[in-house]
Amino acid sequence: MGKTLLQKVWDLHTVRTLSTGQTQLFIGLHLVHEVTSPQAFDALRERGWKVARPDRTFATVDHIVPTRDRARPFVDLLAEDMCASLERNCRDFGIRLADLNDDRQGIVHVIGPELGLTQPALTLACGDSHTSTHGAFGAVAFGIGTSQVRDVLASQCLAIEPMKVRRIRVTGTLPSGVYAKDVILSIINRLGVGGGVGYAYEYGGDAIERMTMDERMTICNMSIEGGARVGYVNPDETTFDYIKGRPFAPAADRFDAARKWWKSMASDPDARYDDEVVIKAEELTPVVTWGVNPGQSVPVTGRVPVDGESGADGQAIADARRYMGFAGGEMIAGMRVDVAFIGSCTNSRLSDLREAARIVRGHRVASHVKALVVPGSVSVKKAAEREGLDEIFRAAGFEWRGAGCSMCLGMNPDKLEGRQVCASSSNRNFKGRQGSPTGRTLLMSPAMVAAAAIAGEVTDVRDFVTKSPVAGSL
Ligand code: SF4
Repeated sequence: MGKTLLQKVWDLHTVRTLSTGQTQLFIGLHLVHEVTSPQAFDALRERGWKVARPDRTFATVDHIVPTRDRARPFVDLLAEDMCASLERNCRDFGIRLADLNDDRQGIVHVIGPELGLTQPALTLACGDSHTSTHGAFGAVAFGIGTSQVRDVLASQCLAIEPMKVRRIRVTGTLPSGVYAKDVILSIINRLGVGGGVGYAYEYGGDAIERMTMDERMTICNMSIEGGARVGYVNPDETTFDYIKGRPFAPAADRFDAARKWWKSMASDPDARYDDEVVIKAEELTPVVTWGVNPGQSVPVTGRVPVDGESGADGQAIADARRYMGFAGGEMIAGMRVDVAFIGSCTNSRLSDLREAARIVRGHRVASHVKALVVPGSVSVKKAAEREGLDEIFRAAGFEWRGAGCSMCLGMNPDKLEGRQVCASSSNRNFKGRQGSPTGRTLLMSPAMVAAAAIAGEVTDVRDFVTKSPVAGSL
């Protein structure tokens, strides 16, 4: 009987089985940022401990970074304190830091892959839920909390429960105007936000195999929103081509050996799965969330559900509708938006910006909409500027910002105000997620956000592309 990638990586990294039933796993790479690390470093200092493997630890600053003006000290003193703490901790403990003056700075889940730090068959941990992103490379990547950040800093190990594996095969070809974001929102809608609890999600099938690494990252990024602690794609030539030549990739004379080993770590053809789900790509449509978790979504042609629909939890639906201000039964298309946000570790990579710019070019943002584009890293920003994407967005009325998490979570000056509705390419639509306790978030693909910004309301990007005189002209 063959093994899955998860089993192979797990076996290779197991230090021992703990009396709790958890596995003590060696962590190959620990990514650190300013929000979940200060207390962890304090705990090390109190005990006089060192960081076990600074050579396997890399830090950046992302969540609290102002995207308009990066001048220090920040106006927000708490943000300034977090940033200064990370700088001091990295200095004191000998950890590499991509700080605000570093061209490698950006959202932690964007820069890890970009720098070639993220590699197949690694165990990877970071104090952020969306660490599952790195699974796109065939890494087994865990989002962890502050106490676990402390544990990994001190021991380079993590105590974690073994998981089952659900294979999710996406077969066929995605229709035009349907993106990786729609695939993962559809998966979460179908399996539920708790459907992945206890599972790792292995994404496969010919539609996934044809995807770029950027698209695979979008899919894996939101695994956690479906309850799966880990999501991954088996590494293949697309993966290896992406990694080759990046700053932390194996050197040219060692790359072929690395590729051979990475290949051997992919799931075996006769691997046994605990569950299998098939999604037909042809049946997918652009998706928009209407509620307060990423599973509460409908096709852009759909309606907000009414009580008891599809056997869904009536109480949860009623609660979400109340917060969002929906009566139930309304078409999601046509919902007025106040803010359009293109960014976050889900959808702020160069390909996302290119596709959004393709929609935007030659159009103007609706007069009542505040629209912003926030590249995921300094590197993405510079690459986009070299292609002139910033000019396209600015000409259309978008604000072009510096790299950071921005309005994904509002721990920086980019926040919704009051009851504003935001068309967002981010990953969470929880109550108050974008900085206003009453703000409302509609998750969708970056192309859909671009279309919504121009229309001033939720609109079907497929119609938009068809009507656009510039579709495909970028
Ligand atoms: S973009 Fe959002 S989800 Fe991603 S790391 Fe930043 S805050 Fe977390």
